[in-house]
Amino acid sequence: MEACKMLSTSIMVTDYCTLNCKLCLAYIPYLRDRKRLSLAEAKIVFYNYFSMVDHVDKFSITGGEPFTNTELVDILLELLKYRSRISEIIIITNGTIKLSDEFLEVASKERKLKVIVNNYGSISKFSGKNRELLGKHGITNILYDDSNRYDWVDCRDHSLKNKIESEIKAQAASCVFFSGKKYLINHGKLYTCTRSWYRIENNLIPYSKEDYIKLTDKNFDVEKSREKLLNLMARKYSTSCAYCSGRTEKSILYPAAEQLTKGD
Ligand code: SF4
Repeated sequence: MEACKMLSTSIMVTDYCTLNCKLCLAYIPYLRDRKRLSLAEAKIVFYNYFSMVDHVDKFSITGGEPFTNTELVDILLELLKYRSRISEIIIITNGTIKLSDEFLEVASKERKLKVIVNNYGSISKFSGKNRELLGKHGITNILYDDSNRYDWVDCRDHSLKNKIESEIKAQAASCVFFSGKKYLINHGKLYTCTRSWYRIENNLIPYSKEDYIKLTDKNFDVEKSREKLLNLMARKYSTSCAYCSGRTEKSILYPAAEQLTKGD
């Protein structure tokens, strides 16, 4: 059986956020049907994912703002059951919520865990405090602020942009998300990127069942799903790349975390 090794997978543990970023790459302000991952769902999703995937270099916990999910610590403990199959576990926060003692205690025992703390200025009011707490507990952490973060891009245009296969391939090849194989799990399904998830789930593009893998099936067929995933990983582009300008060297860059206003 061919081994299945992934570079990167993120799981959105919530569609809720404390911020309202206009260019959110997870489209949080634009979601109509918001969900939170429950511990019960996480158990099934992780079990099925790791029955199909032998190893993942980077497994990230994102949202929305992950710390708005009250079951986050239990979900993290569930993920840690698979720690031998993960090189690095990352939690990304926007610095608006003070980290709990419960989280700090669990995180302090896990050397593979790294917390990325964003500081978007005055709106990230716990950014400094959280870094202090993480440091005090010996938890690896990194600050992303204006000095070291990527500027943002605008992926809100879902019209068909790349019409022929060579154009779609070229788009995917120049996209950092595609080349980084940054897969995403949300609402119980694995997608090739966050843009693909949003467009498919909201019926913004034509798609087929080959574009995602459902991880919540009770009768999850491991062999078929693994084959499907290996096929997805071997593809030179995803369906969504035809409708995307991605993040490429040509992308127009915008300041991070600009908040939506009533006029937008
Ligand atoms: S081009 Fe768009 S859809 Fe394709 S991988 Fe990049 S971000 Fe995702």
